[in-house]
Amino acid sequence: MSSTSRRTRSSQLWWRPVAKDNVRITFLGGLGEIGRNCAALEQDGRIVVVDAGLMFPEPTMYGVDLILPDFRWLIERRDRVDAIVLTHGHEDHTGALRYLVKDVNVPIYGSALTLGFARHRLTEAKVAHDLTFIEVSDGERRRIGPFEVEFIPVTHSVPSAHALAFTTKVGLVVHSGDFKLDLTPIDNRRTDIARLAALGDEGVTLLLCDSTNAEEPGFTASERSVGGALRRLFLERPHRRLVVACFASHIHRVQQIIDVALEQNRKIALMGRSMESNVKLARKLNLLHVDAADFVDIENVDRYEPGEICVICTGSQGEPLAALSKLSRGDARNFSVGQDDTIILSSHPIPGNEWSVGRVIDDLHRAGTEVIHSEHEPVHASGHARQGELRTFHQLLRPKNFVPVHGEYRHLRHHADLAASMGLGDERILICEDGDQIDVTRDGIKRAGQVPAGFHYIDGTAGDLDERPLEERRMLAEYGVVQITAGVDVTRGVISQPVRAVTRGWFEGEQDRGVVDAVTATVRDAITTALADGNRDDESLTKVAQRAAGRLLGQKYRRQPVLLVAIVVA
Ligand SMILES: [Zn+2]
Ligand SMILES: [Zn+2]
Repeated sequence: MSSTSRRTRSSQLWWRPVAKDNVRITFLGGLGEIGRNCAALEQDGRIVVVDAGLMFPEPTMYGVDLILPDFRWLIERRDRVDAIVLTHGHEDHTGALRYLVKDVNVPIYGSALTLGFARHRLTEAKVAHDLTFIEVSDGERRRIGPFEVEFIPVTHSVPSAHALAFTTKVGLVVHSGDFKLDLTPIDNRRTDIARLAALGDEGVTLLLCDSTNAEEPGFTASERSVGGALRRLFLERPHRRLVVACFASHIHRVQQIIDVALEQNRKIALMGRSMESNVKLARKLNLLHVDAADFVDIENVDRYEPGEICVICTGSQGEPLAALSKLSRGDARNFSVGQDDTIILSSHPIPGNEWSVGRVIDDLHRAGTEVIHSEHEPVHASGHARQGELRTFHQLLRPKNFVPVHGEYRHLRHHADLAASMGLGDERILICEDGDQIDVTRDGIKRAGQVPAGFHYIDGTAGDLDERPLEERRMLAEYGVVQITAGVDVTRGVISQPVRAVTRGWFEGEQDRGVVDAVTATVRDAITTALADGNRDDESLTKVAQRAAGRLLGQKYRRQPVLLVAIVVA
């Protein structure tokens, strides 16, 4: 797994002291994975953090609810941190704030919507009370810590996203944030191409740029194209109830679904807590335009004919506790779907979620509904720039140096190649990974060190989780557990309580019996030999038993169960 290679890397940490004329950048997450984006910019000993995001676990990370950046490096330097600047409101950029602010309480900057989403989560987590939120508007320049920071509007799959331009002592450092170059965005707030070009004229020392779609040729479809597809699908189904699932933060998608539904005189019902709260906030900020009278409560949906209703819900990623999953299993309160319903998944599964989304689609079919998703209808558009847009972005800024960010390793590699193909020399491009530090000078960029940046696992009920219990959970899941007990009489040097083995999550019936007998016999022999050699210590006898059982199970049965051995000495 990818985390393993990162752990190996971070076992050989090194760094150079920061020189006076340098700007140092420390990448704490998001380089080598999609998620937990976090970087720190440092000048004259002062630090500004860009984003603090989380990542969702892979299915084999049993019991893990979230993965955070390793914040230890930042926490050790908390006195030198001046601010956290947020590029936009997605969870992979803001979701770890509630953990970071407990130790690093500094002002948080972002657009009204970005801060609104973040504040809502921080309030839910009961850590918002003594935090300072500083709202910025498009194009605004502010002194933040040692830098002047400009907030440049960019289009993305959440409104009010920003790229950041840092004026530093080594020149401009531009962080793209997440972006696409959508020329027909729903709110007509375009990426400020003119401003980017002007920054390019001023001279950009370093560009850090979103790599998510760096493998994809061409241009990402405009968000507006999704509206056209939805309109056609709705028009073809005047008498069916339409249930559309999308990200609750995708306010422009929600706007388009609402517009198409209202054109057909449908009422809107919202389903899912985050959908309700995000819609409420976006309406308050005048970013979502719909009258209160157009909504009906989800409980009252059945009072209307199917053709009079459109439900907008969460759960497009197959999240088991979200609205769509509940609908697919028939355990949503107050509302169920069936033959009269068409479900549209206005989304694309994030890598890792394909399996859960597939299960939800199966269950929806089983419930008799019609299911439409992005595999066979254009009901989704990505929020990230493809190669054509990335080339345009590079050409506008014409950076002297480049580090690809926000992507799995292959995305970073492709983005580096793209920059090289546009004429940037190899020595001006660095592929960095989590934990890497670079120094930026007027002359160029170079590697400056490595800091701890492994996965920080959070188990919702237990709190922090180390790699070891997680590894044990993997072994338990894969191989089960074998418990071995025995009692030893030390004065006589004999086994007084017979060796017993109990297994769980193991073989069945006869086969299980055979393995248990073999383990019992092997352990009995090993202890007997050890006692004959004069061994009387319970700890070392336990080790003897553990080794014997482990060797047998590994060599003969190719299994590595969790072994629980207790040899009691009396
Ligand atoms: Zn994003
Ligand atoms: Zn992102």
